[in-house]
Parts: sequence; structure tokens; C-alpha cells
Amino acid sequence: MLRLLYPEAECESPYRYDFEKAASDGIRGIIFDIDNTLVPHGAPADEPAIALFKRLHLLGFSTCLISNNQEPRVKPFAEKVDAAYVCNAHKPMPENYRKAMEIMHTRPETTLFIGDQLFTDILGANLAGIHTLLVKPIHPKEEIQIVLKRYLERIVLFFYHRRKNP
Ligand SMILES: [Mg+2]
Repeated sequence: MLRLLYPEAECESPYRYDFEKAASDGIRGIIFDIDNTLVPHGAPADEPAIALFKRLHLLGFSTCLISNNQEPRVKPFAEKVDAAYVCNAHKPMPENYRKAMEIMHTRPETTLFIGDQLFTDILGANLAGIHTLLVKPIHPKEEIQIVLKRYLERIVLFFYHRRKNP
């Protein structure tokens, strides 16, 4: 059960991830969470985000954003980075991860999800059977319900790291 919360890999930030290796490993589509994964919560797409997506598209990846946020937040961001998007996604329900794969014409084996939260992002991606990368949240100042989830996440990550490095 805990296993569904475990990411396949971890990285400090999507801006430091080895996407060339992901491409050579057969990944063709990348699904991103937005808030605290690509930019601080609620922030618009900035230069690093725009440059990252340009690079990903040059590497041949399809990209799709999935967010539990609403269209006014998600659409302008997606337009700026030239990615597809699914808003109001109800993560961790797996349906909209599948919708993102449909949009990108990828399969679970060729899709990577990148996000900062275990209980929404990673759980949903695991339920959809796709590859997962957990990144550190960009902004340390978070809403109280997220702060509470972070405590629970730390407990899960404790077991996850212990399993990886016994
Ligand atoms: Mg997030």
C-alpha cells in the first residue's frame, strides 16, 4: 500500500534532471505538476520554465501539465511554455493522467510524471502505472493543509529511503 506513494526516482528540481537520459531510456512524454514543481505556488511561467520546455521539445518530448487548479491558473501557464494541459485534474485520481497520455499519444511505459507531492502527484501517477519523479517543493512557505501533508510525506519518505538504503 505504502508502495503506491513511493516515487521511482527523486531529484532536487526538474531544472536539474537528466532529460537526455530519460529520452534514451525510451520516455516520450512528460507530465508536469505546476505549483511548487516548476514555479512557486501561483507564480506565472518564468524564463527558466520557458527555457526548460523549449529544451524538452527540442529533445522530442511531448509535454502536458496536469493541475488540480482551475483554467485561469493553468491555461496561461501552458500557453507560455507551449504545453498541453489538463486543469481541475482531481489528482490523485488516475483518469486525467490517462487523458494527458492520450493527448501526448504516449503509453504508461513511455511517460514520466514529475511533481512535488506524494499524496496527490505521485500516488495518482502510480495508480496510472507511469514513471514518477519526485522533486523538492520550490517554495518553503506553504498553506497549512500542505504543511500537514508534508509531515505525513516525511514519514513515508523515511520508509522509502530506508528501503532504498538499508
Ligand atoms: Mg505541486
